[in-house]
Amino acid sequence: MKILRLEVPHWEQFDGLVHGFLGRFGDQGQPPNAAFRLSYDDGGDPQAIKRNWCELKLAIGLRDISIITAKQVHGDTILHVCSATEKLAGIGDGLMTDAPNLCVGVMAADCVPLLFVEPVRKIAAAVHAGWRGTAAGIAPRAVTLMKEVYRIDPAALHVAMGPSIGPCCYEVGPEVAEQIAANWREELMGTWRPEGVKGRLDLRALNEAQLLGAGIPQSHIRKIGPCTACHVRDFFSYRKEGKSGHQLSFIGWRS
Ligand SMILES: [Zn+2]
Repeated sequence: MKILRLEVPHWEQFDGLVHGFLGRFGDQGQPPNAAFRLSYDDGGDPQAIKRNWCELKLAIGLRDISIITAKQVHGDTILHVCSATEKLAGIGDGLMTDAPNLCVGVMAADCVPLLFVEPVRKIAAAVHAGWRGTAAGIAPRAVTLMKEVYRIDPAALHVAMGPSIGPCCYEVGPEVAEQIAANWREELMGTWRPEGVKGRLDLRALNEAQLLGAGIPQSHIRKIGPCTACHVRDFFSYRKEGKSGHQLSFIGWRS
């Protein structure tokens, strides 16, 4: 099985870092249908899901490392993962860890997957930010929590945002912009373009503005990959396909 895997070119310098933004898999790239299930909580056969994980890890050459995920609910909870004893860390839309030899991962299909890395202390985090998570400020919240829990300087963090729906395809109603503007009015400027009664939202640019406000240097923020809805052969897109599968983004450190 072949899987498209995008990596951050600049992160090659971080020795021992393992990461990737994966593309669609398990359905021969033909949208829609037959998505390759990885979520233990969506009613699928647990044995089949376990086999899917084995196949996936074999395909990306990570058989010896656990990938820990969470039951995602479009909220702003970030879970602190200390060990690889549980495959599912709990309910949350972000996971962070300072433990070696495990990866944290999030699933997305249009929403923004964000991977964070602090290369000196070897901290890693993965965050899922749709418009609700972004309105709740989940990305800057991850920065604040890493600062508190691991005592790191936000200026030392690097962030990459993976394939997600672009402003070319993401039309939303004014109520969405209003909810975001409640806490992020300044950040919304330039990332929201009204068009008639609706408007277009640039979710990655909005997250970038939030991250800059949280103290991450501009030069440490990268955008990897295209708009998911424009590239459904390579990526699942909920907006384009209706009920779709989800692609995995993951990050961690080998000791
Ligand atoms: Zn697009």
